[in-house]
Amino acid sequence: MFEWLFGRKAAPRHTMPTVSFDSTRVTTEIRADLDATLRLTSDIPASEFARIYQAALDSVSRGRDLAVLAQALLTIEGMTKKRAGAISRLLNNRATSLMDRQRQLGLGIKSAIWRYSGAPCADADDDLHSQLDGKKYSIEKGMAVGKRRVWPGMEEDCKCGSSVIIPGFKRTDF
Ligand SMILES: [Zn+2]
Repeated sequence: MFEWLFGRKAAPRHTMPTVSFDSTRVTTEIRADLDATLRLTSDIPASEFARIYQAALDSVSRGRDLAVLAQALLTIEGMTKKRAGAISRLLNNRATSLMDRQRQLGLGIKSAIWRYSGAPCADADDDLHSQLDGKKYSIEKGMAVGKRRVWPGMEEDCKCGSSVIIPGFKRTDF
């Protein structure tokens, strides 16, 4: 079934499969997050909100189709390519982070270790994400930072990732 993925058998050109994305992963929680994040994005006029929200939903539902959202954003007067790209990445990164979390919690995985990418994140608190590197957090509740809770990939330009802690497996690499 997955021969094409491993290159064991070359698929004839006319039956070349397209990579499908399970859009049922775009849950109510993810839709609510797209809506809330867009509402906090000051450069989207209220009159354009519904159209941009739909483009964001399409972008995420197609499995990180950043172009579809960036193109919709670029029709807004005054929107720069850089800003359109940043908004598209932020919304998709947040959706990916939420999907990962849902999948991990569904597998009974409760904790993870924060992994800083090494490239600075544009977080408001200087160096916060690099300081979180190697620290354990609850996948459900996030990492407590002062009064807020943060997860890798949820803030603008965050390049951080995580390593899950699988119950019963002893980790030796941290
Ligand atoms: Zn980060």
